[in-house]
Amino acid sequence: MSPPPSVPIRPTPGGRLAPTALLLASALLVATPSRAAAQESPSPARATGEESASPATSPAAARPQVLVVALDGLEPTLVRELLAEGRLPNLARLIGRGTMTTIECVVGSTSPVVWTTVMTGVPPERHGITDFTVDGVPATSTARRVPALWNVLPRHDLRSAVFGWLVTWPAEARSGVMVSDRAYWGRFDDKVSPPGVLDPAAYHFNGVADTSFLPRFTSWPYDADLSDRTPDDPSYAVDFLVHRRLVNAWVHDTTFARMAEDLASRYTVDLLAVYFQAADYTGHGFWKWHEPEPFRAAGVAVDDAELAALGDVVRNAYVFLDELVGRMTALVDDDALVVVLSDHGMGPGLGDYAVEGDFLSGNHRDEGVLVLSGPMVRRGVAPQERITHYDVLPTLLLALDLPQVLDHRGRPLLECFTDAFLAERRLRFEPTWGPRDGGGAVERSEHDQEILDELRSLGYLK
Ligand SMILES: [Zn+2]
Repeated sequence: MSPPPSVPIRPTPGGRLAPTALLLASALLVATPSRAAAQESPSPARATGEESASPATSPAAARPQVLVVALDGLEPTLVRELLAEGRLPNLARLIGRGTMTTIECVVGSTSPVVWTTVMTGVPPERHGITDFTVDGVPATSTARRVPALWNVLPRHDLRSAVFGWLVTWPAEARSGVMVSDRAYWGRFDDKVSPPGVLDPAAYHFNGVADTSFLPRFTSWPYDADLSDRTPDDPSYAVDFLVHRRLVNAWVHDTTFARMAEDLASRYTVDLLAVYFQAADYTGHGFWKWHEPEPFRAAGVAVDDAELAALGDVVRNAYVFLDELVGRMTALVDDDALVVVLSDHGMGPGLGDYAVEGDFLSGNHRDEGVLVLSGPMVRRGVAPQERITHYDVLPTLLLALDLPQVLDHRGRPLLECFTDAFLAERRLRFEPTWGPRDGGGAVERSEHDQEILDELRSLGYLK
């Protein structure tokens, strides 16, 4: 089969891709539409199969491994503050071999929507995950109407392992290794694909019983038994938060990290993607102790004893996540591209970001973190235009030397890569990844009500 339409990348001396290269490439594609379509549009077998390999991969460019670490709710200003204090050594090392910038939320900051957009490249109204729920049911992978990156990689004989990415239950067959976001509850079918590749139950900590890790986060005298107390009890709210937003997040993130480590010791993959939730969970729950001043100024009482015990929970969660970033980085090659990003930031739940109720005090800010790191990344480069979550997938495709997709919204962040790396790549295009056969229908489960109750009790759903 002849190669797809392509155009060499010609960075300017300043490292910027000449915009004409993109225009030229588009023009080339437009000039030969039938040929391009014949070569590039997914055949029905590909669209349905997500499994068939394609011979159309480039033989030329060296292809680095790619690691994506998704840190839900990681706030850029707090990352900078902790970096300055030397408390995030793993992120500091990554940034020293690359760059850190902010990423704008242009599809809102509802996490399942953003994380699905990151891996599909198209707007929520097209991919179909527009909220935590679809048709009143907790969103499931079956409701996604378009392929995600992990569905497309097998077409190019590339392997992926995806851990805990939002809206990946049921785990998707023929898409590499996938441990779905519902795995850690330990009570769902179809948690893992291929079946039996690992058993999440074997990794699941009983976090409520074993809270010996808590002193690294807080000196609060945690009492896990909420059963004989009511929300009027002054300690109830804090124990509820420690349980639901700190212990559970620690269990979740530690469990997924251990599964990724075990899998990586057995398999080599081209793409490793892991999702962690501790920044979002602790940020929502503990922000008024993390940053009490604006709350007190707004007339919200912040108790001094609580402040002494809980004031560092959020910071300590960031330090914990930095350790996980270091552990995940250790699973890939030294010359891998490492991408660390958040779906949104976090700030006091006041003013523009006001929240209601005693059990939430932090709320989303519409800006997240983006770190790109590796030998192919230009050190300390400032992106030339604003970056959005749409730009992540084209950048991953560039790194993996796969064709850009014309109906994806974003752009590859060419200015962030070295000339030597870009010189090895040929920018190729395909019109679309097409629809996902059978996608669009949410899958019901016997646990839907339980999940809805959980989302409501944590304030994610009204
Ligand atoms: Zn959140």
